[in-house]
Amino acid sequence: MTVLALAFAMLLVLWAGVLLAFAGPLIARWREPVLKCPVLIIESDDWGAGPGQQADALCHLSGLLQRLRDRSGRPAVMTLGVVLEIPDGERIAAAGCTEYHAMRLAEARFDAVRTAMTDGIEAGVFAPQLHGQCHYWPAALLAAAGTDPAVRDWLTSPEPASTEALSSPLQSRWVDASSLPSRPLDPADIQQAAAREAADYAAIFGQAPAVAVATTFVWNDAVEAAWATAGVDVIITPGHRATCRNAAGQPACMDATMLSGEHSLAGQTYLVRDVYFEPALGHASQRLVEGLLARTRQGRACLAETHRFNFLQAPDASLATLEAGLNAALATCPNVRFLSPLELAHAIRARNPDWIETRLLPRLVVWRARLDEVPRFRRVARLTGLVLPLALLGRSA
Ligand SMILES: [Zn+2]
Repeated sequence: MTVLALAFAMLLVLWAGVLLAFAGPLIARWREPVLKCPVLIIESDDWGAGPGQQADALCHLSGLLQRLRDRSGRPAVMTLGVVLEIPDGERIAAAGCTEYHAMRLAEARFDAVRTAMTDGIEAGVFAPQLHGQCHYWPAALLAAAGTDPAVRDWLTSPEPASTEALSSPLQSRWVDASSLPSRPLDPADIQQAAAREAADYAAIFGQAPAVAVATTFVWNDAVEAAWATAGVDVIITPGHRATCRNAAGQPACMDATMLSGEHSLAGQTYLVRDVYFEPALGHASQRLVEGLLARTRQGRACLAETHRFNFLQAPDASLATLEAGLNAALATCPNVRFLSPLELAHAIRARNPDWIETRLLPRLVVWRARLDEVPRFRRVARLTGLVLPLALLGRSA
């Protein structure tokens, strides 16, 4: 008996040690709000200044989203990550690539695109958010054009440019990736650029941007501080923050991880979008359902990332896959709710009891489900037998 009791006591000490070793991520996942019902948001980037066929694509998307409603009658919501300008190729060419000039979303040439956006916003299906003044840092593009003929051709093309055609490092707005590894920008330049993009955004949408998503998910504290000054209080993230492009051009210098509901240094609420749904890349409608089910088990909203290229390059097939995915989500999770990221962030921040679970047992079950994603914890829990009491927790609902 004494030996058994001693062995059990040692096991408890071992488990306590494991829990202590992983205390940081475990506590963070306990504190992370638990949603009461499934929430699905389609997050779509890169819309705005650019090719004219966006107007048709947006109209089709708006019609599709309005046909699909949750049990409260709310239509499906798609965010529009808005880009406010593209290069004015003719003027840049005339200046020999020594000056940057832009075509801005506010100009008459983009009337149809703006109208399609605002019509969808009024219909409650589009939620605009700031993606950037442009999908690059202009000075970095001019510098790159000096050595790279492909960049020079792109920058001087007379047609409205598609930023998707740029190399990935140059699509990062908040670093100078004209050569690799990238170099940080001067915080004063960031501050000025963020103020200007927020003003341009407000001139089109009638209010300062409340939500921002950095191009290519590369940004830093200086950007967050500048966005805060400009009125941004929600930041869409992939769950971590890259602050540079490395020598291979990949997002790197990761300096933070975040869970939905956590706050930036500047006070913004972070949301995590980590489901990838790009029909033109072969993602099937089922992917949306699987993402929704997995996030629901974790008590989280499913923010599904997609991009305008799906709806410009393969519009019919992408629209059909999106519609099938949303219909399958409604069929699989009849209590799914459609929300905008701003509404979600407000519900999380206010711990709104209509949306946020407060009962202990459901919170424990969700917490258990979240632990599987903590690096190494799952393996250590299995090796030490801690997995057994945790499994009981998972079945206790
Ligand atoms: Zn983008």
